[in-house]
Parts: sequence; C-alpha cells; structure tokens
Amino acid sequence: MLDRPNPTTGEIVKRCEELFSDLTFAAARQWKAAEPGRIVIGFMPYYAPRELVHAAGGLPLGIFGGGDQLEVIHGDAYYQSYICRIPRSTIELGVSGRLDFVDGMMFPSICDVIRNLSGMWKLMFPDKGARYIDLPHNFEDDLGGEFYVSELRETCHWLSAMTGKPITDEALRASIAVFNENRRLVREAYQLRADEPWNIPSSELYLLLRAGMVIPVEEHNKMLRDYLAAARLQQRPRKDNARVVISGVFCEQPPLNLIRSIEIAGCYIVDDDFILVTRWENSDVELAGDPLTNLARAYLHDSKSTPPKYEPDEAKKGLYLVDSVRRNRAEGVIFAMTSFCDPGLLERPMLQAVLKKHNIPQIAFKYAENSGQMQPIREQAGTFADSIKLWSGT
Ligand code: SF4
Repeated sequence: MLDRPNPTTGEIVKRCEELFSDLTFAAARQWKAAEPGRIVIGFMPYYAPRELVHAAGGLPLGIFGGGDQLEVIHGDAYYQSYICRIPRSTIELGVSGRLDFVDGMMFPSICDVIRNLSGMWKLMFPDKGARYIDLPHNFEDDLGGEFYVSELRETCHWLSAMTGKPITDEALRASIAVFNENRRLVREAYQLRADEPWNIPSSELYLLLRAGMVIPVEEHNKMLRDYLAAARLQQRPRKDNARVVISGVFCEQPPLNLIRSIEIAGCYIVDDDFILVTRWENSDVELAGDPLTNLARAYLHDSKSTPPKYEPDEAKKGLYLVDSVRRNRAEGVIFAMTSFCDPGLLERPMLQAVLKKHNIPQIAFKYAENSGQMQPIREQAGTFADSIKLWSGT
C-alpha cells in the first residue's frame, strides 16, 4: 500500500477553514454519532479543564461565539445593547438549535457576563447540563489550590452523572498526557512563528488553534504535527514587517479579517492571547500523583497571565507583556480589545502604563466579533508599523 503524502500547509489550512466556518459543528456531531453514549461538552473562553471531559470519554467543544457569519436575532432580546457580543451570539447558537447535540456547557468565571450566561443557560435549557467553573483567585496550595481541586472534583461528578461512569485517576492521567502533547505542539508552533513569522502567518496559526476547539485532541495533535512538518519545508517571502504582540483577544474572538488586516498592514504577530486554553499551562502538567491536584497546581503556579486572571502582586502587574515583548523580540504591542469588555478595558490603562515605563510602543483599538469595516484597523496598524520602522531605532 502506498503511503499518503504528508498534507501541505495549504491543505491543512483549508480543512481548518471549513471547520471554522461550520456553525452547525458537523465534525463534533459526527464524532458523537459514531458511538452510542458519547457526550459533547461545550466550554467558553478563556480556560476550561478539558482533560476532565476527555477522561469522561467526552469531546470538549470550544464555543467561541458566532463570529461575523451569524446573524444575531434572538440573542439581542436577552441582553442590553451595551455589552459585548459573544453572550448574545452564544444564546443565538443555543436558541437556533445549533447546539442541540451538546450535552452540557462549562462557563469559566471570566466576568459577570459569563456568570449571568451560565444562569440563563440553566433556565433556558433545563434538560442540558450547565456548570459554572469557579476559578481560584488565591494562589496558595492550601487555600485556592484546595478550593480548585474541589471544583474539579465536583466537575468530575457532574460529568460522571451524564455518562453513568466514574472518572478514574488512570483515565485523568492519560488525558493530561494527551493534552500535554497538544500544548507542547502548540508551543512549538508559537516558537516557530516567533522565529520565522513570514513562514507561519498568524491567520493560519489562529485557524489551526480554532480547529482544535471542535475536533478530538488526538486528531488535532496529528494536524499540528503535519502542519509543523510542512511549514518547516517551505520558505515564503520575508518582508520588512514590524514585530508586534497582540493583547486583549482572550475572549470574544476578532474576525479573521482583522488578523489578516494587521498582517497585510505590515505587522508580524509574534505573540498573542488568542484561544489561551490551547497553551494555558506553560509546561507539562505533572503525571505522577493525584491528577486533580496536579491540574490545580499547574493552574496556580504555571499558567498564563491575562486581564481576567487576578494578579495578587501589584508590582508584577503587566510584566508578562513586557516579558513577551522581550522574549519574542517584538517592537510594539497592539491592544485589540472587545468593545464593552470589562476585564479587558479596565485592565488596559494599567498595562499601557507598564509598557510606557519600559518604552514599548503601543496602539489600541476595539472590535466586535462581527466588525466588518477593516480599513481603519489597516490604517492604524500600518501607521504603527511604519512609525516603528522609522523611529524605534531597531
Ligand atoms: S468579551 Fe469580556 S465582557 Fe464579554 S464575556 Fe468575554 S470577558 Fe466577559
């Protein structure tokens, strides 16, 4: 039998685009239908313990809003107009039946909007499970750690009640191992993009991450391996672009065209906070010992910083961005924040002050997941890139 040649980056990205634009979630539906008793558990940004769902034999499904393809009709009736769009488009996905195959939803404690959405979900879809994942804001093992272990344990019980089977430590360790591999591959892709951003366009990397939200992690691992192998073989033209870090895109997603517009305007994105759940932990989660304790420790001591996550040490606030700029040899930061996003917009002035103190150039703008007019973004990002090239002295 002839071996199938490795797919090209173009072929992989095409598959990712199909998954990205399919708001019926056909791939997840097919996965569920393939074996009786399978469960699909949706989760919202920015973080959810996907390992638990996997260990229960389920598929964790990232619900990242409706993007710019979904017309929100019903969702607008449930919320006031002056909040972000992702809760409204998520309601729209639910009310329109697009999530009818989803057995339960996990809502991380990212902000009041998501907290309210978890309560609304319970009322609107009483036959479906809904779990609010209360994340710790205290980072001591015997306080926040204990609390988070009990949250994780409760979540395991919640999942077991759906499948009728307990989740064993062995299954949890196997799931942590497969997600460790996924995070390693994502980190590898991020490193490769930082080294050769002309070879790994951020719009492609973003689509690769989004694909991982709707397909099994094992399939995503193969997809990432194939993409990395193909990307290493190619040489795309190198441009004299400015290297930038994007901050603020941790929850409601920017339209794909926004990412493309920033790149077309002359910026290489060398780090970002897109879909943080794919690389939330900075290194492998420990496998030996109690798996829930290991997940909690990784959350407390080795996870990403982002505006919704509490930083107990005032002196450290925002330094993660400075570190990202230095580590990735970036020349500036673009704050792309969701309109009406409290955690993002309240934190931004403090982050800007930290960057100013470290003489790091920056610009800021807002978007919604359905923003259509990209010309102002292109002009702003283009002017920023030009000013870096002309005046930053790099
Ligand atoms: S975009 Fe901001 S305000 Fe809206 S749900 Fe997400 S974190 Fe909350």
